[in-house]
Amino acid sequence: MTATPHSVLQHTFGYDAFRGDQEAIINTLVGGGDCLVLMPTGGGKSLCYQIPALVRPGTGVVISPLIALMQDQVNALRELGVRAGFLNSTLSFEAVRDTENALLAGELDMLYIAPERLLQERTLDLLSRAQLALFAIDEAHCVSQWGHDFRADYLKLNILAERFPAVPRIALTATADARTRVDIQQRLSLTQAPAFVGGFDRPNIQYRIQPKQQARQQLLSFLKAETDGQAGIVYCLSRKKVEQTAQWLAKEGYKALPYHAGLDASVRQQNQQRFLREDGIIMVATIAFGMGIDKPDVRFVVHLDLPKSIEAYYQETGRAGRDGEPSTALLLYGFEDVVKLRQMMAQSTGSDEHQRYEQQRLNAMLGLCEVTGCRRQVLLRYFGDELPKPCGNCDTCLHPVESWDATEAVRKALSCVYRTDQRFGANHIIDVLRGSDSEKLRRFGHHQLSTYGIGTELSANEWRSVLRQLVAAGLLAVDPEGYGGLRLTEACRPVLKGEQSVSLRKENRPDRSASGASRSRPAPTQVDEADQPLWQALRACRKQLADEQGIPPFMVFHDKTLADMLARRPQSLAQMSEVSGVGDAKLERYGDAFLAVFDDFR
Ligand code: ADP
Ligand code: ZN
Repeated sequence: MTATPHSVLQHTFGYDAFRGDQEAIINTLVGGGDCLVLMPTGGGKSLCYQIPALVRPGTGVVISPLIALMQDQVNALRELGVRAGFLNSTLSFEAVRDTENALLAGELDMLYIAPERLLQERTLDLLSRAQLALFAIDEAHCVSQWGHDFRADYLKLNILAERFPAVPRIALTATADARTRVDIQQRLSLTQAPAFVGGFDRPNIQYRIQPKQQARQQLLSFLKAETDGQAGIVYCLSRKKVEQTAQWLAKEGYKALPYHAGLDASVRQQNQQRFLREDGIIMVATIAFGMGIDKPDVRFVVHLDLPKSIEAYYQETGRAGRDGEPSTALLLYGFEDVVKLRQMMAQSTGSDEHQRYEQQRLNAMLGLCEVTGCRRQVLLRYFGDELPKPCGNCDTCLHPVESWDATEAVRKALSCVYRTDQRFGANHIIDVLRGSDSEKLRRFGHHQLSTYGIGTELSANEWRSVLRQLVAAGLLAVDPEGYGGLRLTEACRPVLKGEQSVSLRKENRPDRSASGASRSRPAPTQVDEADQPLWQALRACRKQLADEQGIPPFMVFHDKTLADMLARRPQSLAQMSEVSGVGDAKLERYGDAFLAVFDDFR
């Protein structure tokens, strides 16, 4: 066998150089060793087992719980000229038999199997009769009972070490924390194997968190200014809001589709299919959408409601930019979000310990929203990673937020809450502070309070920001039952007594910052005005080739490959082969079609 990892990288995948730990990982497996790989989404995990599977004799077996993805993964490999197949419960009897025969005949480079299938005695027996290059255990965090993706079948994967001691094993995950890592090592018998632990940073994602004022307008101006026909996801908390937002976006002229668990399975399937296959679809969804979506060119993820934890936020925003190209994560959050989540937590059943844990996770999420420093540093620190310098690619790095000494204002707000008997919500408190003349105030006699009208120096919006930050920081608590009534907590004692000062975040004007943060960088895969016709022609060519085969356009070429092609303007197949992402199989298949596009423009 003459193939080397580097020649496979070039000829099969069309790439010049390995990234990060890829080469060391590949060499470990090619040499017959096991390993554990922790790499962020988009880091390039697949090559780590695909290349050794092609270099070593025999078939590489990939274990993955994401059955819905297998057909696409196999299609993508076949596009590259790799002989790939899969075994799971969706296949017909005949298809299973054909795949099994191909395996035994040594005609498969890669075989994807669902864990429950693998564990059947029949499958283990089959594998023991085939020549195997390696086992890759994808989504390896599924062995951990701590995580949210636990799968009992994964616990039994230990059997691979016992039954196939000579076959190297690689476990891969993008999940960060140390507890999960130890679980994987122990449960998959990898304690002796090297662990390649990459950082968890997703440098191509720009994080932005903006106070919510007019959410729809904020969303619209973001879409208009920055997402020129690109694909993205808009997350909402409720099904109803998903429906309404999708309808409204459609009316505004966007290709927006709804996705939530209440829709018919066929409608969900169809919308997901369109998201994958068509250009520029905006999926408006609850968090039911996303798991197992392997679309590499999702350019933005917008949250219209606050996620419950940093884990959830990171996972959901992580669906943007799997191809490594610049992408945006925009979260809009407001006072109501904080109140709603605090109430949900308070009403949640479960043990005290569980509730405290949830509370801590929410507090960390709120902390991320209110931080005045670099967001990415906070995010990474939460996962145990230190980023030594501010990232330069989050909203607070790009538009530094000022903080102000709010001690005086905070005291006014707190005493106003106290004087109104700790049972009114934010709007009422703000009315009292600003001395509004309302029927309701008079009914409660609040126009006669000593705190009536003592806060005219701040606008209602500014007071909202103050109250939001006080709730986020735990100086005010929200009444769990009723209408968002605010009350004091133990933590405000030193502030009221004048022993502690409070510094708060000064909001940037949302109209500037909601869409403005990116002006300092080029928008994702932005193409010069003059190149637009050629770029659109290349995209149209890709779409046509994809449609002919019933595959998504990114499986023909990623945006990155198309952009590199545009920059190089190849005039021959030899030049075309230099383009990043153009390997031998795709060169032969598609090279001429794209060269013809360049010819038309000459
Ligand atoms: P992960 O599974 O870690 O999320 P993937 O394996 O899907 O990441 O890789 C992410 C993207 O990066 C893919 O488009 C892949 O083709 C590309 N990629 C991976 N390794 C390289 C490399 N060495 N050079 C160029 N592109 C790469
Ligand atoms: Zn930053």
